Amino acid sequence: MAFHVMIIPTLGCPANCAYCWSSEEDSPVMSIETLNEIVQWLKDFRNEPVTFTFHGGEPLLAGEEFYRQALPLIANGLSEQKIAFALQTNLWKMTPELARILAEYHIPIGSSLDGPRELNDSQRGKGYYDKTMRGYEIATENGLKASFISTFTSNSVKHKEDIFNFFLENGFTLKLHPALPSLRSHAPEELALEPEEYGELLVYLLDTYLEHLDDIEVMNINDLCRCVFTGRGNVCTFVDCMGDTFAVGPDGSIYPCYRYVGMQNYVMGNVYDRPSMEDLTRSDAWNLMQEFKALVDKKCGDCSYIRFCRGGCPYNATAPYDGEIVDVDPHCTAYKRIFKEITDRLNNEMFGGPGLEMGGFQPVAPMKSKAGIMDLMRKH
Ligand code: SF4
Ligand code: SF4
Repeated sequence: MAFHVMIIPTLGCPANCAYCWSSEEDSPVMSIETLNEIVQWLKDFRNEPVTFTFHGGEPLLAGEEFYRQALPLIANGLSEQKIAFALQTNLWKMTPELARILAEYHIPIGSSLDGPRELNDSQRGKGYYDKTMRGYEIATENGLKASFISTFTSNSVKHKEDIFNFFLENGFTLKLHPALPSLRSHAPEELALEPEEYGELLVYLLDTYLEHLDDIEVMNINDLCRCVFTGRGNVCTFVDCMGDTFAVGPDGSIYPCYRYVGMQNYVMGNVYDRPSMEDLTRSDAWNLMQEFKALVDKKCGDCSYIRFCRGGCPYNATAPYDGEIVDVDPHCTAYKRIFKEITDRLNNEMFGGPGLEMGGFQPVAPMKSKAGIMDLMRKH
């Protein structure tokens, strides 16, 4: 089974977004020696396809030389395994040379723009939009493909139409991210998107997307519909992510996910010790993640959507409780809302009404005049 290793070359970031929870000033930058240790660790860790995502902080702060060495080190060192790369960046530090280095490995770039310039800069900082768009031009002119994540806050959600139209008119794929309360205290909680608002937003996006099905991709809606249609989670939020996702911080510490990097109680081991999976499962961090899984089985046991929701994201769940395992993902309300909406619509489209058990839909009769969930499924 494929797994995912996120490499966090640094937690530093030149931007200063108001709701950020994942950057740290003065964070060290990963050395090539540590990167090489990641490769050596993985040689005997698990002989399965692996996707590496460079994440941060801002991963391009590691600089051209880091990627010039790191990419062949990984690709050649793990040539026995099927390897893919991805990189999440604000693009400010993109240079033509860096873009060419990344393009050699066909690395898809994920970046962040919350919407039109004024709205984006009001929550990400003045000048952010122009710097990111400049980096986007350099990236695309040099052979890279880039898409954007829009973070919806309690403020920007009031402008959801403008944001959708911005992505539509610019021909950008839309992926959204709800602003979270932070495990780090400096992030203001008031920007976090309330679960009810998030649920409303997802339903709005489903509706609007279906009206523009040929003109835009809304990744989250694609994923949610696929979850319901297949009865299985297909993105990390909706599966038991632990054990198939790892993150390695600048000093080689191993965590369950990039969201925990820098949190000492979530360190599972260090690449310099070349831990086996069994070693990692003996860590306190692993036990914490298992506690979450047990909590989901208990708290979500009666939920119709548990098979493809799995209690949501453990980080989201622990963020409001200072890292403690107390509840499932607070976006539960939003997930229920959108899963019900999609389920009801699918039932209507295929059977003309409610009454189907969850999961494993078998189409029997097409019946609709405007685009529906089945059209969306056929598109992919
Ligand atoms: S902790 Fe959350 S973001 Fe990280 S891999 Fe798990 S579900 Fe995904
Ligand atoms: S929708 Fe809520 S109750 Fe249902 S599985 Fe997801 S988190 Fe649990």
